[in-house]
Amino acid sequence: MLISNPNGNRKAVVIFSGGQDSTTCLIQAIQEYGVQNTEAISFNYGQRHHIELEKARWICQDLGVKQTLIDLSSTQNFTANAMMSDVPITAGENGVPNTLVDGRNALFLLYAAIHAKGIGATDVITGVCETDFSGYPDCRDVFIKSMNVTLNLAMDYNFNIRTPLMYLTKAQTWQLADELGALDYVQQHSHTCYVGVDGGCGECPSCQLREKGLREYLQSKQAVNQ
Ligand code: ZN
Repeated sequence: MLISNPNGNRKAVVIFSGGQDSTTCLIQAIQEYGVQNTEAISFNYGQRHHIELEKARWICQDLGVKQTLIDLSSTQNFTANAMMSDVPITAGENGVPNTLVDGRNALFLLYAAIHAKGIGATDVITGVCETDFSGYPDCRDVFIKSMNVTLNLAMDYNFNIRTPLMYLTKAQTWQLADELGALDYVQQHSHTCYVGVDGGCGECPSCQLREKGLREYLQSKQAVNQ
Protein backbone atom coordinates (compact mmCIF):
# COMPACT_ATOMS: atom_id res chain seq x y z
CA MET A 1 0.00 0.00 0.00
CA LEU A 2 1.03 3.55 -0.70
CA ILE A 3 2.14 5.30 2.47
CA SER A 4 1.99 9.04 2.10
CA ASN A 5 1.60 11.33 5.06
CA PRO A 6 0.47 14.76 3.89
CA ASN A 7 -1.17 15.44 7.24
CA GLY A 8 2.13 15.45 9.12
CA ASN A 9 1.65 14.71 12.78
CA ARG A 10 -2.06 15.42 12.85
CA LYS A 11 -4.04 12.67 14.46
CA ALA A 12 -7.37 11.26 13.35
CA VAL A 13 -10.11 9.25 15.04
CA VAL A 14 -12.18 7.11 12.67
CA ILE A 15 -15.69 6.03 13.65
CA PHE A 16 -15.41 2.37 12.80
CA SER A 17 -18.09 -0.31 12.49
CA GLY A 18 -16.15 -2.83 10.42
CA GLY A 19 -18.47 -2.25 7.43
CA GLN A 20 -17.46 -1.45 3.87
CA ASP A 21 -17.68 2.31 4.29
CA SER A 22 -15.81 2.72 7.55
CA THR A 23 -13.18 0.13 6.58
CA THR A 24 -12.47 2.19 3.46
CA CYS A 25 -12.26 5.35 5.60
CA LEU A 26 -9.92 3.65 8.07
CA ILE A 27 -7.53 2.49 5.34
CA GLN A 28 -7.58 5.94 3.75
CA ALA A 29 -6.81 7.53 7.14
CA ILE A 30 -3.89 5.18 7.75
CA GLN A 31 -2.44 6.22 4.39
CA GLU A 32 -3.02 9.93 5.04
CA TYR A 33 -2.11 10.22 8.71
CA GLY A 34 0.14 7.21 9.25
CA VAL A 35 -0.92 4.23 11.34
CA GLN A 36 0.60 5.70 14.51
CA ASN A 37 -1.60 8.78 14.17
CA THR A 38 -4.83 6.94 13.37
CA GLU A 39 -7.20 5.52 15.96
CA ALA A 40 -10.52 3.75 15.60
CA ILE A 41 -13.55 4.15 17.84
CA SER A 42 -16.33 1.55 17.79
CA PHE A 43 -19.66 1.39 19.55
CA ASN A 44 -21.66 -1.37 21.10
CA TYR A 45 -25.19 0.02 20.89
CA GLY A 46 -26.97 -3.31 21.12
CA GLN A 47 -26.58 -4.30 17.45
CA ARG A 48 -28.55 -7.34 16.39
CA HIS A 49 -25.34 -9.20 15.69
CA HIS A 50 -22.04 -9.37 17.45
CA ILE A 51 -20.25 -10.42 14.28
CA GLU A 52 -20.05 -6.72 13.36
CA LEU A 53 -18.02 -5.86 16.45
CA GLU A 54 -15.87 -8.98 16.09
CA LYS A 55 -14.99 -8.04 12.51
CA ALA A 56 -14.22 -4.48 13.58
CA ARG A 57 -11.86 -5.69 16.29
CA TRP A 58 -10.17 -8.14 13.92
CA ILE A 59 -9.57 -5.46 11.26
CA CYS A 60 -8.08 -3.03 13.80
CA GLN A 61 -5.71 -5.68 15.11
CA ASP A 62 -4.79 -6.72 11.59
CA LEU A 63 -4.04 -3.15 10.50
CA GLY A 64 -2.27 -2.32 13.76
CA VAL A 65 -4.70 0.45 14.70
CA LYS A 66 -5.59 1.21 18.30
CA GLN A 67 -9.31 0.69 18.84
CA THR A 68 -11.47 2.07 21.61
CA LEU A 69 -14.80 0.35 22.19
CA ILE A 70 -17.55 2.43 23.79
CA ASP A 71 -20.50 0.71 25.41
CA LEU A 72 -23.78 2.42 24.46
CA SER A 73 -25.91 -0.67 24.98
CA SER A 74 -28.16 1.23 27.42
CA THR A 75 -29.77 2.90 24.36
CA GLN A 76 -31.66 -0.38 23.93
CA ASN A 77 -33.66 0.48 27.02
CA PHE A 78 -35.47 3.37 25.40
CA THR A 79 -35.40 2.90 21.61
CA ALA A 80 -36.94 0.31 19.30
CA ASN A 81 -35.83 -0.41 15.75
CA ALA A 82 -34.86 -3.29 13.48
CA MET A 83 -31.15 -2.66 13.95
CA MET A 84 -31.28 -3.71 17.57
CA SER A 85 -34.03 -6.33 17.75
CA ASP A 86 -35.52 -9.15 15.75
CA VAL A 87 -38.38 -7.29 14.08
CA PRO A 88 -38.30 -7.64 10.26
CA ILE A 89 -36.50 -4.96 8.24
CA THR A 90 -39.01 -2.89 6.26
CA ALA A 91 -39.31 0.56 4.73
CA GLY A 92 -41.41 2.98 6.78
CA GLU A 93 -44.09 5.29 5.39
CA ASN A 94 -41.60 8.03 4.52
CA GLY A 95 -39.30 5.49 2.83
CA VAL A 96 -36.82 5.45 5.71
CA PRO A 97 -35.99 1.84 6.63
CA ASN A 98 -36.83 0.83 10.21
CA THR A 99 -33.14 0.10 10.75
CA LEU A 100 -32.71 3.80 11.47
CA VAL A 101 -31.45 4.34 15.00
CA ASP A 102 -32.57 7.80 16.03
CA GLY A 103 -29.67 10.07 16.90
CA ARG A 104 -27.04 7.41 16.34
CA ASN A 105 -24.55 9.52 14.39
CA ALA A 106 -24.97 12.42 16.81
CA LEU A 107 -24.11 10.09 19.68
CA PHE A 108 -21.18 8.53 17.84
CA LEU A 109 -19.74 11.91 16.88
CA LEU A 110 -20.08 13.24 20.41
CA TYR A 111 -18.19 10.31 21.92
CA ALA A 112 -15.63 10.29 19.12
CA ALA A 113 -14.99 14.01 19.63
CA ILE A 114 -14.56 13.63 23.38
CA HIS A 115 -12.06 10.84 22.73
CA ALA A 116 -10.33 12.83 19.97
CA LYS A 117 -9.82 15.86 22.19
CA GLY A 118 -8.47 13.57 24.91
CA ILE A 119 -5.71 12.28 22.63
CA GLY A 120 -4.98 15.64 21.00
CA ALA A 121 -6.69 14.87 17.69
CA THR A 122 -8.81 17.40 15.85
CA ASP A 123 -9.84 15.25 12.91
CA VAL A 124 -12.83 12.94 13.31
CA ILE A 125 -13.64 10.81 10.28
CA THR A 126 -16.99 9.19 9.60
CA GLY A 127 -18.16 7.16 6.60
CA VAL A 128 -21.66 8.66 6.49
CA CYS A 129 -22.98 9.24 3.01
CA GLU A 130 -26.10 10.98 1.77
CA THR A 131 -26.02 9.55 -1.75
CA ASP A 132 -27.31 6.04 -1.24
CA PHE A 133 -29.01 6.45 2.12
CA SER A 134 -30.71 9.79 1.82
CA GLY A 135 -33.48 8.64 4.15
CA TYR A 136 -31.23 8.79 7.21
CA PRO A 137 -31.38 12.38 8.49
CA ASP A 138 -28.13 12.20 10.42
CA CYS A 139 -26.18 11.11 7.34
CA ARG A 140 -26.80 14.46 5.68
CA ASP A 141 -23.99 16.93 5.16
CA VAL A 142 -26.02 19.72 6.77
CA PHE A 143 -26.27 17.68 9.96
CA ILE A 144 -22.53 16.95 10.00
CA LYS A 145 -21.70 20.65 9.57
CA SER A 146 -24.13 21.60 12.31
CA MET A 147 -22.69 18.92 14.62
CA ASN A 148 -19.18 20.17 13.91
CA VAL A 149 -20.16 23.66 15.09
CA THR A 150 -21.93 22.21 18.13
CA LEU A 151 -18.91 20.13 19.13
CA ASN A 152 -16.56 23.09 18.70
CA LEU A 153 -18.77 25.15 21.00
CA ALA A 154 -19.35 22.29 23.45
CA MET A 155 -15.65 21.70 24.01
CA ASP A 156 -14.10 25.02 22.93
CA TYR A 157 -11.95 23.14 20.43
CA ASN A 158 -11.53 23.21 16.65
CA PHE A 159 -12.77 19.85 15.47
CA ASN A 160 -12.57 18.96 11.81
CA ILE A 161 -15.21 16.35 10.98
CA ARG A 162 -14.30 14.71 7.69
CA THR A 163 -16.76 12.73 5.56
CA PRO A 164 -14.81 11.35 2.59
CA LEU A 165 -17.76 9.31 1.32
CA MET A 166 -20.48 11.96 1.63
CA TYR A 167 -21.26 12.29 -2.07
CA LEU A 168 -19.98 8.97 -3.37
CA THR A 169 -22.20 6.20 -4.70
CA LYS A 170 -21.52 2.67 -3.46
CA ALA A 171 -19.75 1.99 -6.77
CA GLN A 172 -17.51 5.02 -6.19
CA THR A 173 -16.75 3.86 -2.65
CA TRP A 174 -15.55 0.55 -4.11
CA GLN A 175 -13.48 2.55 -6.59
CA LEU A 176 -11.92 4.48 -3.71
CA ALA A 177 -11.02 1.20 -1.98
CA ASP A 178 -9.42 0.05 -5.23
CA GLU A 179 -7.45 3.29 -5.55
CA LEU A 180 -6.21 2.76 -1.99
CA GLY A 181 -4.99 -0.69 -3.03
CA ALA A 182 -7.55 -2.29 -0.75
CA LEU A 183 -10.39 -3.58 -2.93
CA ASP A 184 -9.80 -7.24 -2.03
CA TYR A 185 -9.18 -6.41 1.61
CA VAL A 186 -12.44 -4.49 2.02
CA GLN A 187 -14.34 -7.15 0.10
CA GLN A 188 -12.97 -9.99 2.21
CA HIS A 189 -12.90 -8.53 5.68
CA SER A 190 -15.56 -5.85 6.05
CA HIS A 191 -19.00 -6.81 7.27
CA THR A 192 -22.15 -5.02 6.13
CA CYS A 193 -24.93 -7.63 6.34
CA TYR A 194 -27.94 -6.61 8.46
CA VAL A 195 -28.79 -10.25 9.06
CA GLY A 196 -25.37 -11.00 10.47
CA VAL A 197 -24.29 -13.66 7.97
CA ASP A 198 -20.50 -13.95 7.73
CA GLY A 199 -19.58 -13.09 4.15
CA GLY A 200 -23.05 -11.55 3.59
CA CYS A 201 -26.50 -13.10 3.08
CA GLY A 202 -26.81 -11.49 -0.37
CA GLU A 203 -30.46 -10.62 0.25
CA CYS A 204 -30.85 -7.97 2.93
CA PRO A 205 -30.97 -4.31 1.76
CA SER A 206 -27.43 -3.73 2.95
CA CYS A 207 -25.97 -6.74 1.11
CA GLN A 208 -27.90 -5.81 -2.03
CA LEU A 209 -26.63 -2.24 -1.98
CA ARG A 210 -23.07 -3.41 -1.39
CA GLU A 211 -23.13 -6.01 -4.17
CA LYS A 212 -24.91 -3.79 -6.67
CA GLY A 213 -22.25 -1.14 -6.11
CA LEU A 214 -19.44 -3.64 -6.53
CA ARG A 215 -20.96 -5.01 -9.75
CA GLU A 216 -21.35 -1.49 -11.13
CA TYR A 217 -17.79 -0.59 -10.27
CA LEU A 218 -16.28 -3.77 -11.71
CA GLN A 219 -18.32 -3.36 -14.91
CA SER A 220 -17.21 0.25 -15.35
CA LYS A 221 -13.60 -0.74 -14.68
CA GLN A 222 -13.84 -3.49 -17.27
CA ALA A 223 -15.36 -1.09 -19.79
CA VAL A 224 -12.47 1.34 -19.28
CA ASN A 225 -9.91 -1.42 -19.68
CA GLN A 226 -11.37 -2.75 -22.92
ZN1 ZN B 1 -27.17 -9.49 4.28
